[in-house]
Amino acid sequence: MLGPMTDAKIRLFVDQPLGAGQTVPLDRDQAHYLFGVMRLSAGAGVLLFNGRDGEWLARVAEAGKRGGILICEAQTRPLRRPPDLWLLFAPIKKARTDFIVEKAAEMGAARIIPVQTDFTNAERIRQDRLQAHAVEAAEQCGGTYVPEVADLIRLDRLLADWPEGRHLMFCDEGFADGGAAPEGASSALPGLRRTTPAEPWAILIGPEGGFSAAERKRLLALPFAHPVSLGPRILRADTAAVAALTLWQAALGDWTRPAA
Ligand code: SAH
Repeated sequence: MLGPMTDAKIRLFVDQPLGAGQTVPLDRDQAHYLFGVMRLSAGAGVLLFNGRDGEWLARVAEAGKRGGILICEAQTRPLRRPPDLWLLFAPIKKARTDFIVEKAAEMGAARIIPVQTDFTNAERIRQDRLQAHAVEAAEQCGGTYVPEVADLIRLDRLLADWPEGRHLMFCDEGFADGGAAPEGASSALPGLRRTTPAEPWAILIGPEGGFSAAERKRLLALPFAHPVSLGPRILRADTAAVAALTLWQAALGDWTRPAA
C-alpha cells in the first residue's frame, strides 16, 4: 500500500525527525543496507518512519560506503497509533521470546513489557535486541509506530504500581482442561465484549511453568483484572500471546474500528 507518487519499496526506521526538506544522515549499517545490499544509488526513493512523524518518501542525496544522506520529500502516510494495549509476558527461550515480540509488534501492541514471575527462568533479557525485533516487525508490516520494549520488571512490582484505569486481561491457564472458572471470569470473546471497551488495557501471559498458586490468587483478586480462557487446551506461551492479541483486537481493538 505505497503512496501513488512513489516507486520506493524499502521501508526503513530512522531515529531522526522527519518533515518536508528534512535531511536524514545515515549510519554505517543503514548505508551498508541501502547501498551495499539493496544497491540503491543517488535519486532512489526510500520510505522512512520514526514512530512519531508518519511515513515519508525520501530520496538518496549522497550514497557512500560508511554513510550517506537522504532528503525527505513528502509524507506518504500519517502516524497511526495502535490502541493503548500493553502485552505483559514472562520471557521464555530466546527464539520464542523473539517470536512474541515480533508478533506483538505486528498485532498492534503499543508497549511490550517482559515480566519476571515466580516461575520465570530468565533473570535478564537483551532489551536492545528485543527492541530491534520490534523495529524490524514494524518495517515489514507497514507500521508507522514502533512499540517500546520495556526492561524486565517483576510482576508483583508492576501490579503494586498499576496505573489507574488500565484493565488487565489475565490469561489464566487454570481454565484449561476442565479447570473451574473463577467467579466473574469471561469466556473469551463474548466476555471481553461485555467489559468496558474503553482503553487502556493490558494482556498478561505466563511462562512455560504457568503462574504460581499465590500469583494466581492475587491476580484473581485484583479489581482491574479480567480472567480469560483461551480454550480447553494448554497453549505454549508464544501461541497464547498471539491468540490473546487476536482476541483482544477482534473484541475491543482496531480490528473493530479504525485506529486513531
Ligand atoms: N505449565 C502451565 C501452562 C503454561 S502455558 C500448566 O501446565 O498449567 C503459558 C501461559 O499461556 C499461561 O500462563 C497462560 O497465561 C497462557 N495460556 C496457555 N493456555 C491457556 C488457556 N487455555 N487459557 C488461558 N491462558 C492460557
